[in-house]
Amino acid sequence: MAYSLELGPIRPPSEAYSLLIRATRNCPWNRCKFCHLYKGERFQLRPADEIKQDIQTARLIRDKITEISWKSGYGGRMREIAGVVLNNPPDEAFRNVALWLYSAGENVFLQDANSLIMRTNELAEVIRFLRETFPDVKRITSYARSKTAAKKKLDELIELYQAGLSRLHIGLESGHDPLLQYMDKGVTAAEHIAGGRKIVESGISLCEYIVLGLGGKEMWREHAIQTARVLNEIAPDFIRVRTLTINNKTPLHAEVENGNFIRATDEDILKEERLLIEHLECHSNYVSDHITNLLQEIEGALPRDKETMLACIDRFMALSPEEKTNFRVGRRVGMYSSLDDLYDSRRHEVVEQVTHKLSQGNSEVDEKTIYALMEGFI
Ligand code: SF4
Repeated sequence: MAYSLELGPIRPPSEAYSLLIRATRNCPWNRCKFCHLYKGERFQLRPADEIKQDIQTARLIRDKITEISWKSGYGGRMREIAGVVLNNPPDEAFRNVALWLYSAGENVFLQDANSLIMRTNELAEVIRFLRETFPDVKRITSYARSKTAAKKKLDELIELYQAGLSRLHIGLESGHDPLLQYMDKGVTAAEHIAGGRKIVESGISLCEYIVLGLGGKEMWREHAIQTARVLNEIAPDFIRVRTLTINNKTPLHAEVENGNFIRATDEDILKEERLLIEHLECHSNYVSDHITNLLQEIEGALPRDKETMLACIDRFMALSPEEKTNFRVGRRVGMYSSLDDLYDSRRHEVVEQVTHKLSQGNSEVDEKTIYALMEGFI
């Protein structure tokens, strides 16, 4: 039997094992220069009844997997049978539910780019229905835009929190107004602060995503300082960093081609990240959960771990030029995950060979090659 359950294109890395329920389609703004995700797609609200139908379908699939578990001698144990189903799922709907059950079936993520734009009573109705349908769910989260959060009344956000909304993920990107404007983010630093603070006040947990390298060569310093200022004002539970990648579907690609935007190098970006961390005074968890970040080990609870995080950047900066190149190439080809990997002689040698090839005998690998390797991950 085929099950139909609509799925959107993405979810945050921290929601990789969440049940995905599509609350809206695409992005109501869809203009950010650095983003290609929904370009060419029209934003649509989905009626609450349609979303509830998908939740029912997820429930039917879960019940079906439970039934298979009993029939195949797994005695209702979900992890084992979900693993079996995942090896050969009949369709994407089944795969979504099986992956969720495989990792304990605890969290749900509402797709796409800004579920908060739904009428508050309808979104609350969907969240309540989710809680009733899956009473064991621990966390329900979604993406939102700061501007939409700033427009909602505090009481509306409290209503969503009381309905069972646990967390919102917001793309803050930068706190520097000229950069927000240049990137056509459609929000100001003041709106970021207003929306973010309101979410924190409502009790909903908040993740703010920022983009390292977004200021390019020209605005990196202001980007770092102003982003830290905005984050200090909001004090989100999580600050999550990712590094700018540009593919030819993003409007920013043309800006690079015509010379209007000059990309920052890995070292520029680490200087920027150092300045950002130096200026952060809020009590937030700093998370580097994205493969594009050169030093993914820069993580910790602020302000407690600030010095350790800065020391990690200094450690990279103290490397010889050859070792810096070796590490950058090793990261970008997926051989290294942290600076300590430089001391793994086997991997180091393989990366040396790759570097030799990429640099055509020279020890320098040009920036374009490094960018291309990094973007290969996206
Ligand atoms: S608001 Fe988010 S999803 Fe929409 S265009 Fe901007 S970055 Fe992309």
